[in-house]
Amino acid sequence: MSHGGDTIFGKIIRREIPATIVYETESVLAFRDIAPQAPTHIVVIPKEPIVSLAHSTPEHRGVLGDLMLAVAEIARQEGLEDGGYRVVTNIGRHGGQTVFHLHLHLLGGRDLSWPPG
Ligand code: AMP
Repeated sequence: MSHGGDTIFGKIIRREIPATIVYETESVLAFRDIAPQAPTHIVVIPKEPIVSLAHSTPEHRGVLGDLMLAVAEIARQEGLEDGGYRVVTNIGRHGGQTVFHLHLHLLGGRDLSWPPG
């Protein structure tokens, strides 16, 4: 685990390690999760290395909006809209965050239980 600075997602942004990229704009990148928890499991990240939602500030308003809109667009692209889907961001220890670069998980393709474990 690494806090702040560079993470494995930074390496994906810089194409230093491979990932199956499904969506990219100037501010956002999305790729398939390496350990999928649902038939469709995509990680959506800002290219700017914000540590977590808890580390976001009003300056990030634009990129946070870009992220949310990107998730909805990717869900359409992946054919998830009819069946529905879930968007999750894990924060810190209790949230189960393991990569300290803000990301949204897009999960779909099966019934998801609630509450999460
Ligand atoms: P979190 O536990 O919320 O921090 O989520 C981190 C996610 O990143 C996990 O679901 C991992 O499976 C995923 N992950 C870690 N390394 C990679 C990688 N190299 N490519 C794609 N997904 C990854």
